[in-house]
Amino acid sequence: MIKLDNVSMAFRGRPVLDNISLDIAEGEIMVIIGPSGSGKSTILRLMIGLLKPLAGKIWIDGQEISGASEEELNIIRRNMGMVFQYSALFDSMTVGENVAFGLRQHTALSEEEIARTVRRRLRMVGLNGQESVMPSELSGGMKKRVSLARAIAINPQIVLYDEPTAGLDPIMSTTIDRLICSTRRVLNVTSVVVTHHMSSAFNIADRIAMIYDGRIIEIGTVSEIKKSSNPIVQQFIHGWA
Ligand code: ATP
Ligand code: MG
Repeated sequence: MIKLDNVSMAFRGRPVLDNISLDIAEGEIMVIIGPSGSGKSTILRLMIGLLKPLAGKIWIDGQEISGASEEELNIIRRNMGMVFQYSALFDSMTVGENVAFGLRQHTALSEEEIARTVRRRLRMVGLNGQESVMPSELSGGMKKRVSLARAIAINPQIVLYDEPTAGLDPIMSTTIDRLICSTRRVLNVTSVVVTHHMSSAFNIADRIAMIYDGRIIEIGTVSEIKKSSNPIVQQFIHGWA
């Protein structure tokens, strides 16, 4: 469903990603871990076409996006949702308008259908009836859930999550983890989750990829990662657990 083939990326001549290849299957939950600044958010932004790779190719559902025009990208993005690292809600819009945003941009649904979808998505994330609340009135965990409701509003095939549990207490983190899993189950979405929380990674991942120094130094199932013979992987997963 998502394929990266020898993708490299640099910012102002400084290499960030070095020959990353990754194949993520339909319906899979792929978790990406790695130190701060290792390029995790950059990978997500490449996947959704917000950045173009310096070298290599990226396919989404069989379509090559690394060379796609803005118009083609817009069509591909109708099948993608993203939960940004800092929630990135529109502060001047109500919760309902935030969730409706993608529906208005990407679909021709009637106002009634939009309201129904927004209601259903807010119910899914446990924020029943919160349509008219402003983001400034919400806790961090609630903002993350609105962000998730917004990402899944358009019924995407793919959802990218950038640190969806950062800054949340353990109970709210578990709630978000469950939502990521139920979103996969209910909508059969392919998910890519960047996280610093090893307990989340172990709970939700089908596979985990560890990025270090711009490369994937380990990739595998939870038990494979736990058994990794790479000392950097061992240090990382134990240091952050
Ligand atoms: P964190 O865990 O802190 O979120 P990350 O793994 O998500 O880190 P990225 O945000 O992908 O890391 O950044 C990787 C590197 O690329 C960092 O050194 C960062 O400073 C640099 N970088 C990212 N975006 C840009 C940009 N738009 N312009 C210049 N440098 C950038
Ligand atoms: Mg990041």
